[in-house]
Amino acid sequence: MRTAGVDVDDLAVAYDGVTALEGVSLSIEEGEFFTLVGPSGCGKTTLLRSIAGLEKPSAGRIAIDGRDVTDEPTENRNVGMVFQNYALFPHMSVRENVAYGLQFHDLGDGREADERVSELLELVDLASFGDREPTQLSGGQRQRVALARALAPEPDVLLLDEPLSALDAQLRERLRVQIKTLQRELDITTVYVTHDQAEALAISDRIAVVQDGAVEQVATPETVYRDPASPFVAEFVGDNNVFAGEVTRGGSGLDVGGATLPLPSEVDARDGESAALSVRPESISLEGNGGATGGETTLDATVRTTEFLGDAYRVHCLWNDRTVVVKTGATEPPAGDVTLRFDSADATALRNQGEFSRARRRETR
Ligand code: ATP
Repeated sequence: MRTAGVDVDDLAVAYDGVTALEGVSLSIEEGEFFTLVGPSGCGKTTLLRSIAGLEKPSAGRIAIDGRDVTDEPTENRNVGMVFQNYALFPHMSVRENVAYGLQFHDLGDGREADERVSELLELVDLASFGDREPTQLSGGQRQRVALARALAPEPDVLLLDEPLSALDAQLRERLRVQIKTLQRELDITTVYVTHDQAEALAISDRIAVVQDGAVEQVATPETVYRDPASPFVAEFVGDNNVFAGEVTRGGSGLDVGGATLPLPSEVDARDGESAALSVRPESISLEGNGGATGGETTLDATVRTTEFLGDAYRVHCLWNDRTVVVKTGATEPPAGDVTLRFDSADATALRNQGEFSRARRRETR
């Protein structure tokens, strides 16, 4: 299958004068699985629809495979789309639905089209379901038909808008693996929209975290998780503890509600600046009271609630009037007074306008 990169340059979209996107620039590579993730209303669907040619930008350019398509209608962009709500034709069979995707293609009908439909149904594992109507299918099967229909005309780019959000959790996890496997097999550039950060981490080559109509960070799932570029990304992606406070002690500490936490040594911060430290629950160890030793950060806390996760406990502790979440592999749920500790090397220092002096940010692969 032919595939192409997508370039978005300084894009802005407004609805009735209200800005939905502003200053968005992205470079999506050929064959990449690229995810737009962010909270409801942040503008990710608007961005996907702009790439599809379904929204008209008020500024900026969009190029597919190096060709400027900003003023081209959808049908000239060669993109395939799958929406959240299946959007299948209810009175057409599965085969007819998939064949519909071929109607503007050279293989409009005839034997070749029939073969192509069979091939696509095989691809999404629905070879024996061709004669059924959509109402006779499960939600996951319907979404696979929608996927086959979107792939029918051999699009350069596949655009998926929350394709799994109507499905239950187990099916969602199964189908996301199938989508990723298929994407790899076809090597097709894919732009995927989700509000589910765990899904974004699981499925993507790179992620763009979108907030309030702007891109906060573009990076691999690992980088977004381990090195969030802003307090928003740190809180939105994955379980996290974000300690917000004021820089103190000649830039070496962070005053968090009267307690001082050490800042990582490479941070270049001035006293009085507001900043935050983000520490993942799995980077914090939990010991019985007084159990912690060494020069690492220690917090005396009290266990409030524990959740059993199967392979670990998620423990909600109270420290300095705030909740600190810890993930521990203990065999019994911890209780009472505990000592939490973490290495400041496992903490990321953040401030609102991006990050401190650790330079490798944003477009990191
Ligand atoms: P969700 O996850 O809820 O779908 P989203 O991140 O995809 O959200 P968008 O649908 O892109 O967000 O919407 C971005 C902003 O633009 C929102 O404030 C929304 O209310 C507004 N918006 C979207 N479509 C329209 C429209 N057709 N007319 C007016 N405003 C719109």
